[in-house]
Amino acid sequence: NRLNNDFQFIDVGRQDPQKKAARTRARQFAEIYEPFKPMEAASQAHRCLHCGNPYCEWKCPVHNYIPNWLQLVSEGNILEAAEMSHRTNSLPEVCGRVCPQDRLCEGDCTLNDGFGAVTIGSVEKYITDTAFAMGWRPDMSQVTWTDRKVAIIGAGPAGLGCADILVRNGVKPVVFDKYAEIGGLLTFGIPEFKLEKTVMERRRAVFEEMGVEFRLNVEVGKDVAFEDLLAKYDAVFLGMGTYTYMEGGFPGEDLPGVHKALDYLIANVNHRLGFEKNPEDFVSLEGQRVVVLGGGDTAMDCNRTAIRQGAREVTCAYRRDEENMPGSRREVANAREEGVDFLFNRQPVAVVGEERVEGVKVVRTRLGEADENGRRRPEVVPGSEEIIPADAVVIAFGFQPSPAPWFESVGIEVDERGRVKAPEHGSFAFQTTNEKIFAGGDMVRGSDLVVTAVYEGRQAGEGILDYLDI
Ligand code: FAD
Ligand code: SF4
Repeated sequence: NRLNNDFQFIDVGRQDPQKKAARTRARQFAEIYEPFKPMEAASQAHRCLHCGNPYCEWKCPVHNYIPNWLQLVSEGNILEAAEMSHRTNSLPEVCGRVCPQDRLCEGDCTLNDGFGAVTIGSVEKYITDTAFAMGWRPDMSQVTWTDRKVAIIGAGPAGLGCADILVRNGVKPVVFDKYAEIGGLLTFGIPEFKLEKTVMERRRAVFEEMGVEFRLNVEVGKDVAFEDLLAKYDAVFLGMGTYTYMEGGFPGEDLPGVHKALDYLIANVNHRLGFEKNPEDFVSLEGQRVVVLGGGDTAMDCNRTAIRQGAREVTCAYRRDEENMPGSRREVANAREEGVDFLFNRQPVAVVGEERVEGVKVVRTRLGEADENGRRRPEVVPGSEEIIPADAVVIAFGFQPSPAPWFESVGIEVDERGRVKAPEHGSFAFQTTNEKIFAGGDMVRGSDLVVTAVYEGRQAGEGILDYLDI
C-alpha cells in the first residue's frame, strides 16, 4: 500500500498538476493547471516528512497547519482538511493558486533539498476546491451573534480576511467596495490564467451565506462620507490597497503607445467580464511588438496578457539578473514557455519615437553592492546603450500607497512613504492612530502579496474583537 510508505518521497517524486501545452494556453484566458485527481493529491501529500519543526509552517505568512492537512489529504479526509485549512487562512484556494510558493512554504520544505518540495500550494487549492464541490461550507452553527457593527472598506484579501474573522465571531460586517465585484486585485489585477474569476464569485456566495454583507459599486469618500461610517459603526477596518502608479521618470513616458501596467490589466479584465464603462480604456496589443519594463508579478501578468492578445513579440526588460527578480520563478518560467523573451540587466533610460513609441533605449547593468534591503544594486555599464524596437511599451514598476484625502481629518497618520501606521503589536493589533479605525494589507505594508494581506486582515479582525471586548 503506497499510502503506508514513510519513504514515499523517495519512491514518488514531486509532481505538479498537469499544465496545458504552452501553445494552447497562450491563446486562452483560463487557468493553465489541471486540477489534481484524488489519488495524485493523496500521493503527493503523503510525501510530507512531518518534520518535528515544520519550516514550511513558519515560512507561510498565515502559518497554515501544513503537515496536518497534508496528512488528512493523504488519508482522503478532505472535509476535515478544509475545516483545518480555514482555521488559519480565509482564502486557501486563492493562496494555493497565486502564492509564490517557491519563495514561501515550498522554498522551506525539507525535501526542497534535492528531492523536490511537497506540492503544498496545489494541495491547498485541491482541498478547498474539492470540499466546495462536495457541498462543504464553513460551520457557523456554534456562532453567537452580537449586535456590534463593523464597516470594512475594501473587498480585497485584507478586507476579506478581516470579514472572515469577524463573522465567525458573531459580528456581521458590512464591506464596501468601489468595484462591481469583490476580490480587489484578485479580481481586477491578477489575470484569469492565474486565477479564474469564478473562484471569487464562489467565495462571495460563501461569505454571504456566512453573514457578510457586501455593498459594491460604493466609493467611500465619494458615494458615502467616511465620517458618516465612523459615526454609525463601532469600528472600521481599512483594506484599500496601494494604487499610485510608479513612473520611470525618463523621457518619452507620455508618448502614445506607452501604457501603465495596472490600467492595462484592469481594462482587459473589465473588457472580458463586461464591466467596461468606457470602451476606450481597453488596449489590444494584437500584432504589436511589445516591451514590458519591470520584473515583478505585475510585469509577468502584462507579458502573458499581451501574448494572449496576439502580440507579435513580447520582450521583458529587467534591470537586475534572473536570480534577483522579485516575482515568482514559476511565473517567469510560465511566461518564457508561452513565448516571452527576457532581457536581463537592462535599465530603461528613455522611450523613443516621433509621433508615438518606436522603441525603448536601455543601458546594460551589472550588479554592485547590496542596498539596505540586501538586494544588489544595478550599476550602469558605460557606453552600453541600445534601442529595443517596440510598437507598445508597458511600464510595470510597482505601486505606492495612495492616502485618501480624508485621512488627516479623522486622525489617521501615515509614514514617510504614505503607508498607514497600524502596528501589528500595538494595544490592539493593526489599530491606526484613530482608536476606532484599523488597517491592513498593502496600504499598511506597501505592495506585497495576497497571503500577507489576508494575514493582516485576520489579525486586524482579532484586534477589533479585542477592542470591542467580544
Ligand atoms: P487590494 O487587493 O488592492 O484591494 C483593495 C480594495 O479596496 C479594492 O477592491 C478597491 O476597490 C477597494 N477600495 C480602495 N479605496 C476604496 C474606497 N475609497 N471605497 C471603496 N473601496 C475602495 N500577490 C500574490 O501573492 N501573488 C500574485 O501572483 C500576485 N500577482 C499580482 C499581480 C498584479 C497585476 C498585481 C497588481 C498584484 C499582484 N499581487 C500578487 C499582489 C496582491 O494582489 C496584493 O498584494 C493584494 O491584493 C493586496 O490586498 P489588499 O486587500 O491590501 O488590497
Ligand atoms: Fe504556502 Fe501560501 Fe498556502 Fe502558506 S498560504 S501554505 S505560503 S501556498
